[in-house]
Amino acid sequence: MRLCRYGDDHGAARYALYQQDRICPLAGLMDDPPTDAELFDRGIDWLASLPTPADSSWQAAPDTLLPPTPPPEKIFCIGLNYRDHAIETGSEIPTEPVVFSKFNTALIGHGETICLPKVAHQVDYEAELVVVIGRTTRHVSVGDAMQHVYGYTCGHDVSARDWQKGRPGGQWLLGKTFDTFAPVGPCVVSANEIPDPSNLAIRMRLNGEVVQESTTAQLIFDIPTLIAHLSTIVTLKPGDLIFTGTPPGVGAARTPPVFLTSGDQCSVEIEGIGTLTNRCEAEN
Ligand code: ZN
Repeated sequence: MRLCRYGDDHGAARYALYQQDRICPLAGLMDDPPTDAELFDRGIDWLASLPTPADSSWQAAPDTLLPPTPPPEKIFCIGLNYRDHAIETGSEIPTEPVVFSKFNTALIGHGETICLPKVAHQVDYEAELVVVIGRTTRHVSVGDAMQHVYGYTCGHDVSARDWQKGRPGGQWLLGKTFDTFAPVGPCVVSANEIPDPSNLAIRMRLNGEVVQESTTAQLIFDIPTLIAHLSTIVTLKPGDLIFTGTPPGVGAARTPPVFLTSGDQCSVEIEGIGTLTNRCEAEN
């Protein structure tokens, strides 16, 4: 089952089932649709247990959606996690996951605008599979890790290379967490629909042209390994997001380099999930 989240006329977050640009609001399907605070209390299997509504219950999706799950406590990102991408950046293949994070203020949904900051001049694109955690967990084994996954969504790890690499010390956090630098969506797909997330086609289209194309089979550290590793360090909470890394083809590695400019349209496509599209606009 696919769940999306959108703002009603009063700005409150509402949930709907999602299907190819159509939505079916949960308020029309049940007496007590969840609020943000209640979503994960319904349980990790709740989304998968919802019945598919009749065709007449669907309506056109709004032009813009919110991120598909409530604001998370933590957003983890994994750097250099596709073998080919590590090579294209001239980095060594990591021997353990390279982890950084973004703040919640970076999150936007499908159709919302990526703001190209005044103070960043080399803003790049990165298509990523994002894992949504569904259960509180600490010290989980690789074998049990997948029992803690709520679902999956598409993510875009927008990256200001001039900050990530060009500033003293290499400012990964700042370069990755400008406002709007974490588009996610359009929907979260329940984990039962993607029993094996380790072989999904993933691509980025920039203004319609494919610029990144790979499969999640290329991940150096797979999803169970990432969850187990992170849970040895911090407590994972329902709603926490893990951006799992990006495949080759980023703009900075091209000759000549390609960076995002005002009006560019970025679409992350992941097999079995959908397409996350956002347009870029320069900051005033
Ligand atoms: Zn990334």
